Amino acid sequence: MWNRSFDSVKGISRRTFLAAAASTAVLTGIPGFVDAFASTQMPQPTAGKAVPVGDFSVVPLFDGPQSFDLNLFYGADEQTMLKIAGVQPIPSAFNAFLIKHGQERFLVDTGNGTLVSARTGQLPLCLQDAQTAPADISKIFITHLHGDHAGGLIKDGKPAFSNAKVYVAKAEYDYWQSDEAVSQAPERIRGLFLLIQNVLRILEQDKLIVFFTPGDLVAPDIISVDLAGHTPGHTGFMLTSKGKKLFFVGDLLHGAALQMPRPDITFVADTSQPKAKEIRLRMFKWLAEDKIPIAGAHLPFPGIGLVQSEGDGYKLKECT
Ligand SMILES: [Zn+2]
Repeated sequence: MWNRSFDSVKGISRRTFLAAAASTAVLTGIPGFVDAFASTQMPQPTAGKAVPVGDFSVVPLFDGPQSFDLNLFYGADEQTMLKIAGVQPIPSAFNAFLIKHGQERFLVDTGNGTLVSARTGQLPLCLQDAQTAPADISKIFITHLHGDHAGGLIKDGKPAFSNAKVYVAKAEYDYWQSDEAVSQAPERIRGLFLLIQNVLRILEQDKLIVFFTPGDLVAPDIISVDLAGHTPGHTGFMLTSKGKKLFFVGDLLHGAALQMPRPDITFVADTSQPKAKEIRLRMFKWLAEDKIPIAGAHLPFPGIGLVQSEGDGYKLKECT
């Protein structure tokens, strides 16, 4: 599916590209990625329980299992991190979310698609479980363009959601299209740029991309929020309806067990470690004070919880 139009990708051989496409580390930008679930049997994927938010309802979609080794986090030694989290590796997940509003169906992110392994890319099965066909989706809000969020946009070289406009922050798009960013990127994630450029090219052929600037409404009652740090155009989406809120935070955090109590701890795939840390500290403070529930791409499934103050940091109260 990634081969289409490949020959127009400049300067990189087909072999390198295909090797990159096969590597989870490349897709997620995470070196030393450990697939802790390699021998685990996957249960039949099911959608999570719908969460009402005013006139809307939000259905968590489980794209696949995930956990992160402590050595992928920065800001404390491993011994300290183990003491804080009490668990190794850190439990996580690949989550996306279906937003239902009357007859409208939106997605926040699209999971890995068919790139990584049989254990991820489960989103279409979860959608089916939620009685939703890919063609029912009219808008997709992309938090950022890492492969585990944008990989599901394409299937067999074509848009996987043929009727959906794909909302991408202009800053995020520009970053992944920039020759300068490619040349400055660590070697390990250069292949990711090619994958993402291919996704964008396929979407553009069908004029499916809609750019926004954080602060723009992407749908009535859904506003985009600048969360730059994890990537330059990393964006959250705040859903507000009838006084109820849910904030889709994308990759604001990767390991709740560790980064809730110590939000200063950063993650290897953060493009800017200082900015990722700063925005997390600022957002957690606000989310805890205003008691706004979050929906996170890498919170343990179903990925919805409340940020609550605890000691010098926070804890996640999971909503199940
Ligand atoms: Zn991610």
